Amino acid sequence: MAGLYVHIPFCSSFCLYCDFYSELAAGKMDGWIEALSLEISRRKGFLHTAPSTLYLGGGTPSLLSATQLHRLMGTLRDAFGLDALEEATIEVNPDDVTAEKAALWREAGFDRVSMGVQAFDDARLRWMRRRHTSEEARNAFQILRAAGFDNISLDLIFGYAMLDGESWSHDIDEVLTLAPEHISCYQMSIEPGSALGELAAAGRYAEPQQEVCAEEYLMLQQRLGQAGYQQYEISNFAREGFRARHNSAYWRREPYLGLGPGAHSFDGSRRFWNDSDLDGYIAALKAGNDAPGSSETLSATDVFNEQLMLGLRTLAGLDTALLDAGLLIKARPAIEQAASRGDLIVEGTCIRIPAERLFVSDAIVSALFQ
Ligand code: SF4
Repeated sequence: MAGLYVHIPFCSSFCLYCDFYSELAAGKMDGWIEALSLEISRRKGFLHTAPSTLYLGGGTPSLLSATQLHRLMGTLRDAFGLDALEEATIEVNPDDVTAEKAALWREAGFDRVSMGVQAFDDARLRWMRRRHTSEEARNAFQILRAAGFDNISLDLIFGYAMLDGESWSHDIDEVLTLAPEHISCYQMSIEPGSALGELAAAGRYAEPQQEVCAEEYLMLQQRLGQAGYQQYEISNFAREGFRARHNSAYWRREPYLGLGPGAHSFDGSRRFWNDSDLDGYIAALKAGNDAPGSSETLSATDVFNEQLMLGLRTLAGLDTALLDAGLLIKARPAIEQAASRGDLIVEGTCIRIPAERLFVSDAIVSALFQ
């Protein structure tokens, strides 16, 4: 198994909470796609097998024109062969979804759409500086359905000051009414590079209490569970047969190649990343060089901690037989303590965090690190 990720580093405006690498699209996309084609040809030997998943993320992949998307897909197909793909996802913003674009995405080979809805309330969406209204999100969903997408994931956000139990319950009602195959929910965090980070630093925004966020998370787990969604990872819920394959491979530490400025790659033992610098990326590739970036070879301890961190995000947990035996012996007392507190379930060689403790999983996992 191997994954292919393409980072589309463009947005038409920036959301309040976001610190993903992205630039304003105006005038820069053609230079970027030229450079991306060069990067694709330079890195076609990175994966030793044909990719089984493709993910176009961002930024805002739905900003790509038909010409740009066809060129990108053609270059990817020539370099990697896309015949073995089991899942091809494109991230879209509701305000970009039209019948023409939805047909384009289908025709380009995408069988899964991930759409950032975030909330079903216009005042909260405006506060987040999202570009769409709740009505536009509902319409966009129906347009995607009409175009034949039968695997749609919707994103929601909880854990921010404007949200209360009633409004969160409303958001959950609305997403359940649409009945997507997959739902991802993230807690808003204050990231230093975001506009929200600046507001917080100026004393103009404070996060809600963690107990309030924990209640919202519990409501989410209960309501989605009652509606037939299975939680399979901290932030992800799916109907039977619709778990995200691309992201699941990240948690299993399978190799993937990330293309574009800011993208990360993993070959099974080393991690690589391109600098988050569009101009530097374009200049280097046009000059015949690799994209500027860095890499890190993981030590045995890094691998051990990473296996814990990624494996314990999932409800299936981690098979400790995959861990370094010496480090596992050292971690054993911490594992037993966590199990005695109810923070971990140990079944044979498998360890996992019970669903009701997932909200505090960071603390549970870091106590096991070596
Ligand atoms: S949340 Fe998405 S659309 Fe908003 S700024 Fe970040 S990458 Fe762009």
